[in-house]
Amino acid sequence: MPFDTDIEAADRPLLINNVWQAGSGGEWLPILNPVDESVIGRHAVATIADLDMALASAQIAFESWRDVGPLARAQMLRAAAALILDRADSLAKALTREQGKPLAQARMEIEGCARAFDWAAEEGRRTYGRVIPSNVPGLNWSAGKYPIGPVAAFTPWNFPASQAAAKIGSAIAAGCSIILKGPEDAPTGCVGLAQALVDAGLPPGVFNLVFGRPPEISEHLIASPIIRKISFTGSVPVGKHLAGLAAAQMKPCTMELGGHAPVLVFGDVDPVATAKIAAAGKFRNAGQVCVSPTRFMVHASIYEPFVETFVATAQALKVGDGLDPATEMGPLANDRRLAAVEAVVADALAQGARLRTGGSRIGNVGYFHQPTVLTDVPETARVLHEEPFGPIAVISPFADREAAMAQANATAYGLAAYAFTGSQVDAAFVAKRFESGMVGINTLGIGGAEGPFGGVKESGYGREGGTEGIEAYLTTKLVALMPV
Ligand code: NAD
Repeated sequence: MPFDTDIEAADRPLLINNVWQAGSGGEWLPILNPVDESVIGRHAVATIADLDMALASAQIAFESWRDVGPLARAQMLRAAAALILDRADSLAKALTREQGKPLAQARMEIEGCARAFDWAAEEGRRTYGRVIPSNVPGLNWSAGKYPIGPVAAFTPWNFPASQAAAKIGSAIAAGCSIILKGPEDAPTGCVGLAQALVDAGLPPGVFNLVFGRPPEISEHLIASPIIRKISFTGSVPVGKHLAGLAAAQMKPCTMELGGHAPVLVFGDVDPVATAKIAAAGKFRNAGQVCVSPTRFMVHASIYEPFVETFVATAQALKVGDGLDPATEMGPLANDRRLAAVEAVVADALAQGARLRTGGSRIGNVGYFHQPTVLTDVPETARVLHEEPFGPIAVISPFADREAAMAQANATAYGLAAYAFTGSQVDAAFVAKRFESGMVGINTLGIGGAEGPFGGVKESGYGREGGTEGIEAYLTTKLVALMPV
């Protein structure tokens, strides 16, 4: 089945060995528009036989791709990046229709995919090893970096293109082949990346794309002796499950899981300006962001004006169809998220939290939920312990920075943490003491291909992006050579 880049095409097939195809079982599942729940397409469902075909093609492709020089690999990724940018308008529109985010945010995401490929292309040319002095006369020791092997990767629907691009770019640049299970809720971003790679000349089997039933796919791929590395982005429970499957085979993993980011707002900042930045960051992608700021702890001296401005900013947000240029926040991506957000808000209110704005679904068609601000939330409320992954902000006052830091670190998560302060002393304090993989100080912008992205504690392990991103797809081999 040929597939062109027409994003209005209703079917999203599998790509195996560079051939677009339906699943061999002939099954297709619907793709819904979260704005009105209408069916806007179908994605193929991979069978075990399809997965076996993808595995075989990834194995064969790896045997030659690992020996392709890094410059040639880089040129191919760069060519794909240029094609992605050429097609950014149509891909961004598809992302918005399937996932709900405002078009401008979708466009930024697509541009981010091109940057991720570009960065990986560069880093793939610098996978240096080292020469090690030996204690034995005449013996030469070296440690080289080698592609780890065929990779199985799993990416979610909240950033349906860019989460995939980070994994695909690094794996391909490192000399690995990769089978990606893309997000069934929003598959077109991955389809667009795949098409760009095929059009750029990537050999068959280096990148295979599948959709289907996630548990079936992950169990089969992870168990296969062909697969040498697992990379997953998604929730903590699924991450733990996949890490367990991988552990049974002693396979290394990159686990980019959820977060519950704290934000410490110190008393020496402008509460109005800071609250505006904070609210804009909170409601980006309707809060469905693993590094979304959620628990705002604000110094008591500026608490009231901060809350007032945050609430006013939330109330002023234009919520609607992301294709409308005026829209600032779209619907939630699927009915699971809507139900989950409604449940954590209801739980907080039942436990005595104070609702400052929002709190309800909007309408009864589509997955819209109001931007929601809660204060006076009791410690036992679920929203303080479970990743809300939706448009919910919790604000509380603090007087003492040690107590606030203890509270900030009091969840099982450790992905991102933020602070706003004019003091170098407080900036150094938070940078050192936050238990998180990433810290933003006077900014909520921490993502980017050039930096290592990832968490500690139950937020996972491993990093994507930066020099660490490519390291994740390499293995180190010591060679001791005695010339004869
Ligand atoms: P979920 O936990 O079932 O799924 C999360 C992602 O994992 C989805 O993309 C899904 O397709 C995939 N997945 C689920 N089971 C899998 C399996 N057995 N094997 C392979 N992949 C599997 O639930 P959901 O409703 O899609 O998302 C809910 C939660 O996931 C959110 O509350 C959030 O905490 C988390 N999440 C995190 C991120 C992130 O960027 N870290 C992204 C999306 C979702």
